[in-house]
Amino acid sequence: MGSFYISGANMKVGKDKVVLMHYTLKNDAGDVIDSSDGADPLPFLQGHGNIIPGLESALEGSKVGDKLDVSIEPEEGYGLRMQDAIQEIPSSALQGVDEVKVGMQLQSQDKDGNAFLVSVTKIEDDKITVDGNHPLAGQTLHFSVSIESIRKAEAEELSHGHVHADGQHNH
Ligand code: ZN
Repeated sequence: MGSFYISGANMKVGKDKVVLMHYTLKNDAGDVIDSSDGADPLPFLQGHGNIIPGLESALEGSKVGDKLDVSIEPEEGYGLRMQDAIQEIPSSALQGVDEVKVGMQLQSQDKDGNAFLVSVTKIEDDKITVDGNHPLAGQTLHFSVSIESIRKAEAEELSHGHVHADGQHNH
């Protein structure tokens, strides 16, 4: 007697595979920071930096139906908090912004002209403190993940480095 397999049933998460996962992300305090609960599972292209490095390596080799609990240190997540990403700027530097509020995100540019987001963390008289760290920088991340499906990526997805919704390509 031979064995029968549904096509793809043996497939494992690995480079150039399109994976759908459900996930819940908690911080050290156990608060849910993000979750796909009640939404569609999140698609990503494994091996292309679509998700943080620590999660990519933890999921490598898993199969459909696998459930994993993974804790990821900041170095393998969104990085450490960098003190020099926090800057004090004169409010006059924000001309054209109507009303600056704590928690607001502003677009800034590095010395090479690349755009990045900073958050306003403090407003004092004519000084504004902005923080360019990712909001999850410095945090240990606790993921609960379930693997919902795995398929081979299309050539076009590989050349773009991301997943295309089935039958759709509008960018
Ligand atoms: Zn694309």
